[in-house]
Amino acid sequence: MAYSLPQLPYDYAALEPYIDELTMKIHHDRHHQTYVDNLNQALELYPAAKDWTLSQLLANLAELPDQVAMTIRNNGGGHANHSLFWESLTPNPPKMPPQQLLIAITTAFGSFEKFKRQFATTAQQVFGSGWTWLVIDEDGQLAITATANQDSPLMLDQVPLLGIDVWEHAYYLQYQNRRLEYITAFWQVVNWTKVTERWGKSSD
Ligand code: MN
Repeated sequence: MAYSLPQLPYDYAALEPYIDELTMKIHHDRHHQTYVDNLNQALELYPAAKDWTLSQLLANLAELPDQVAMTIRNNGGGHANHSLFWESLTPNPPKMPPQQLLIAITTAFGSFEKFKRQFATTAQQVFGSGWTWLVIDEDGQLAITATANQDSPLMLDQVPLLGIDVWEHAYYLQYQNRRLEYITAFWQVVNWTKVTERWGKSSD
């Protein structure tokens, strides 16, 4: 099979008390696995796209037959988003982004605190299921965006640097309807080293 579920880079319980073990287990082993399985199934049915990378698939959905495109949008997007999400988290996070990224964030959003507020507000306002992102946008600028369902920034010619999953499956067992508490907890486990790596500049 073309795609497989990546291993979590830490134990299921490692992000407690911020994200609980059962949520991580169900989220990774079941939800993410399902996206992987459905993505592989779609490519079995449409082998012409098997040689494309996941980024190529997501950036070129219009080239695919409608039904295949829809399945890959949902499940290829789900696979890309979750793969990025697990690696964006760590039980041993640096408190702040490394210097160079911190400067870039401050330049783009006014301050690190303002960035966090805008990101959290955007995540809080996602209606239904979706994601909030820090991306490098089409113009090469840092930006905060949101996508619905499993839509990926890769579909929009953006580079995702950090994403928060605000589907209820990401937080409901622990936080129920208190999405803001989950967003607040998320900051405690962000892997800024990884985010900086994606940003493409070495940390200072
Ligand atoms: Mn999810």
